[in-house]
Amino acid sequence: TRFRYIPTLVLLVAAIGLNAQENKNQKIDSLLKVMTLEEKFGQINLLAYYSSQKEIIKERIKKGEIGALLKANGAANNRELQKVAVENSRLHIPLMFQEDVIHGYKTIAPVPLAEAASWDMEAIQQSASVAASEASAAGVQLTYAPMVDICRDPRWGRIMEGAGEDPYLGSEVASARVKGFQGDSYTNGTNIMACVKHFAGYGAALSGEDYAILDYSERDLRELYLPPFQAAINAGAGSLMSAYTSYNAVPASANKFLLKTVLRDQMGFKGMVITDWRTTSNLVSMGVCGDDSLAAAMALEAGIDMDMTSGILMKVGPDLIRKGKIDVKEIDRAVRNVLNAKFDMGLFENPYKYFDEEREKKEILSKENKEKALDMARKSMVLLKNDGDLLPLSRNIKTIAIIGPLAKDKKDLMGRWNCKGDEKDVISLFDGIKNVVGPSTKILYAEGCRLNGYKNNGSDSISKAIEIAKQADVIILAVGEQANFTGETAGLAGLHITPEQEQLVRAIHQTGKPIVNVLFNGRPLVLTEIADNSTSLLEAWLPGTMGGDAVADVLFGNYNPSGKLPVTFPANAGQIPNFYAKRKKQSETGYVDASNKPLFPFGFGLSYTHFEYSKIKLSDIKMKPNGFINATITLTNKGKYTGREVVQLYIGDPVCSIIRPIKELKKFSIVELKPGESKIVNFTIGLDDLYFFDKDLKKTYEPGTFKVYIGSNSSETKEISFELSS
Ligand code: BGC
Repeated sequence: TRFRYIPTLVLLVAAIGLNAQENKNQKIDSLLKVMTLEEKFGQINLLAYYSSQKEIIKERIKKGEIGALLKANGAANNRELQKVAVENSRLHIPLMFQEDVIHGYKTIAPVPLAEAASWDMEAIQQSASVAASEASAAGVQLTYAPMVDICRDPRWGRIMEGAGEDPYLGSEVASARVKGFQGDSYTNGTNIMACVKHFAGYGAALSGEDYAILDYSERDLRELYLPPFQAAINAGAGSLMSAYTSYNAVPASANKFLLKTVLRDQMGFKGMVITDWRTTSNLVSMGVCGDDSLAAAMALEAGIDMDMTSGILMKVGPDLIRKGKIDVKEIDRAVRNVLNAKFDMGLFENPYKYFDEEREKKEILSKENKEKALDMARKSMVLLKNDGDLLPLSRNIKTIAIIGPLAKDKKDLMGRWNCKGDEKDVISLFDGIKNVVGPSTKILYAEGCRLNGYKNNGSDSISKAIEIAKQADVIILAVGEQANFTGETAGLAGLHITPEQEQLVRAIHQTGKPIVNVLFNGRPLVLTEIADNSTSLLEAWLPGTMGGDAVADVLFGNYNPSGKLPVTFPANAGQIPNFYAKRKKQSETGYVDASNKPLFPFGFGLSYTHFEYSKIKLSDIKMKPNGFINATITLTNKGKYTGREVVQLYIGDPVCSIIRPIKELKKFSIVELKPGESKIVNFTIGLDDLYFFDKDLKKTYEPGTFKVYIGSNSSETKEISFELSS
């Protein structure tokens, strides 16, 4: 009888929900009725804030010409601007403040590609939630993240901002990050809206050159690029950004098929579509129309809701409507989506709830937030090589030489898009090691060479480095990329660290001493020679504020590395694109001058311990379309250290009406085991894991044999088959 009231309760809650939605719609309707065309275009006008233009911006806010600002920072500043909107504009509509909170606001987490290497969705969600909580206290309500662009070309600088090459892992990360930023609701003012970007296929950039147009197929769109967006939408992403690039040679911001048919009708997105920086006026520079008026009309009709920084819609939009060049329903739709977002953020209820100077002071760079950034950084590191079990190092080594241009660096460790990050808050590798080693350890240091030079003139510093290397028991080398070698417009053609650094690594190797090479970089690099010249190799990425402590914890065994590559590391640049899920070909081929094997495959990462995989067991060798089967393996820790392993499950469809990859990632599970401990790892396989797009791009499945692969990376797996009946 206790349950008798539940249906009534459910109805009541649903009714309250409906009411809230109705109230919101009514309020938006009544606003739309009284808004002038200028005020409507004002709402969709998103401008960059520059403090030098503060007074002009305030005047425009007063006139209702600005709906949102980006790059305006700090609770006090944003409160002041908000006050103008709420008190001095005719309709008192609050502003929305947006920002690139990509991997942290002030406490900087590792770059997104590094976070993806943790494969740890809880940690990734937590990291986004720290960023949201700091940013929201400082007056931000929306972040231009997560970037969910799948990328298979490491030359593209923005690969650093995404989750790598795989649509399944990418979807998991997209969902975790949206949930982290947005939380359950915006009611307490500590969550911010996610703007998932860049819709769609920006990661296809031709030859890795940023903004370069590549005509990829609709199959690529649906199989590769859309799934992470769908995952973000399913996780509730409130907004989305259209890409700088195009689909089918039509720029994304003018692409009705992408923004209306695919995004709204097929994917069910209900939020706000923001353009990327001036992608409306860029329609002119891309040559698809002759002037700003045509560009504005094209973009609005294609489905954009907010114009980032071009200002052209505000300028020409009202007249275009008056002259009948655009239907008024297009601007009404856009304004509705913008106002809807402002309502959802609670800005109409309390326009000042995000401007919390007290919370800003207390929370930003708090001890808890730094600890979470440290946790994320440790989990993101990938051990690529560890000959003779050189790592972990003992804390009582007599003499350590720390060498390399990144050893004392702080700024670059934050990576690109580091928001309000400040290098003075960053822990360098050198400081991290000093914090960990015992008092009797002697630390020697040499910079070795410059970080940014592509010219070869570092021989003096290299001789000094060799000198101290000779006195040490172990050498820790810190080389890699400057932060701005990755990110927007930072393509890298050769995928090598600078020649000076390579020369340094070679020279130190010749001392014959054991070398731990710590790499700080934001993309897969060609590490063939570096790996040959190192005893141990740790991919530390660009690890953020707590980077130095995190690396030191890993090197000295406070944390046993557990990261796995979210993207293939090629053995040479000519192999690109090189990714694990290539479609099958008729017979094995490679190159005359090189193998086609990557140096480190997708999913690869070592541990200080050794995990043993049993054979795979299936609960049944036959599966019905409405059923499922369980695949299990026993994982045993055969080594001396407690460790975490990312167990990966791939599926293959050996006979299919279209050519498929041999295997595709479908599930994974993180297992922690003490030395000698075993655990059974269980995966449930259902029809969802067996779907594909057929020759007509219809999502379907075909009965027959399927293969299950389970292992520690994409190329080291056990396998077994089962039959799917019709
Ligand atoms: C980038 C976006 C970014 C925007 C705002 C653009 O250049 O492509 O990813 O969010 O600038 O800073």
